[in-house]
Amino acid sequence: MNKKISEYVKENSDFFTAVRHHLHENPELSCKEYETHKYIASFLNSWQIPYEKAGETSIVATIRGKTGKKTIAIRGDIDALPIQEKTGLPWQSKSEGVMHACGHDVHTTFMLGVAKILNEVREQLTGNVKIIFQEGEEIGAGAKKIMDEKLLHGVDTIIALHDTQELDLGVFSLGYETMSSYGSGGSFLIDTEGKNNAIIVAGELVSAVTAIANQRFSKSEQIVLVPTMIKTEGFSEKMASRVRVVYNSRTLNLKNEKVMQKVLADAAKNIAPLFDCKIRLELRKVGNVVYNDRYFTNLAADVIKTHFGPKSLIFTRPVMSGEDFSLYQKTIPGVFIHIGGAVNKEYRALHTSKTCVDDKILPIGIEFLLQYVFAYFS
Ligand SMILES: [Zn+2]
Ligand SMILES: [Zn+2]
Repeated sequence: MNKKISEYVKENSDFFTAVRHHLHENPELSCKEYETHKYIASFLNSWQIPYEKAGETSIVATIRGKTGKKTIAIRGDIDALPIQEKTGLPWQSKSEGVMHACGHDVHTTFMLGVAKILNEVREQLTGNVKIIFQEGEEIGAGAKKIMDEKLLHGVDTIIALHDTQELDLGVFSLGYETMSSYGSGGSFLIDTEGKNNAIIVAGELVSAVTAIANQRFSKSEQIVLVPTMIKTEGFSEKMASRVRVVYNSRTLNLKNEKVMQKVLADAAKNIAPLFDCKIRLELRKVGNVVYNDRYFTNLAADVIKTHFGPKSLIFTRPVMSGEDFSLYQKTIPGVFIHIGGAVNKEYRALHTSKTCVDDKILPIGIEFLLQYVFAYFS
């Protein structure tokens, strides 16, 4: 290549920052990213990059290489969260109660940056690249729409780069195979038909779940089984006769997921006769785990070490959270990587009103994705 990738990235870095600030100021909730969709499409149109739409607001752009048959997909998500921003940044959210607190503004900018530069160097590409702007990751809805509409047919591998404010700027973290947890849970509907107060029953039910779970799991087992919502239905001044209790569960081992479902069912079975009421349990379907293919994990590690130095790479263990990227990985081998963007070594979790990932992450992430594409084709 006549000009180096790093030069293309450097030339565009002000553009990346401007795009990211615009997106951050104008966040939209999952599957309602209508203005974000228009903003992305306006750039793709001006660069004459072909794309297809999926679901409500998703876009899959395609850059065809001059030669080669292999196709790689790069996925970025575009949705924000129902959180009131309190960062005080000059470019903080202008939408009341909505915030890019998971850094999907950064991911969208990664995708636009990669699309712009790959389009400029497409004569040198020896394969095809699909760039996914995915809606609704936070509610686990977007990946399914894109897969259902078969927009990734013929894709050989897939990659995603997720920012985090819990790592130093420019530090990448990745791991082999299972990288996130199986998640499910369920929802109890307690109906006392006016014979008992369903709130009291809900309290007993929650205690029973904890007691049974303590019997079935040893302390060393990494599981999460927590009530996340309790809501009365059919309230009267005398008592609540219907109450819904929602449970969330997470584990790294699919076998445990089955045991947790049994814990919920057994708690309902034990408590219902005590209060002469009905407890209906609806179990949620077990989700998929992020699963990093060994070959692509090694390829990513090599690219990081070569272009950013060995100190920029750490290997990590799985986390007890979910990502709908896992759905793509069910049929397309690939890798999910975190990249650090802590501002002045201030480490904050994502999904808070003060989360903010450093702008300097943009050129680093974009350069990595570009180098990874070329490494894959070479
Ligand atoms: Zn998130
Ligand atoms: Zn996220």
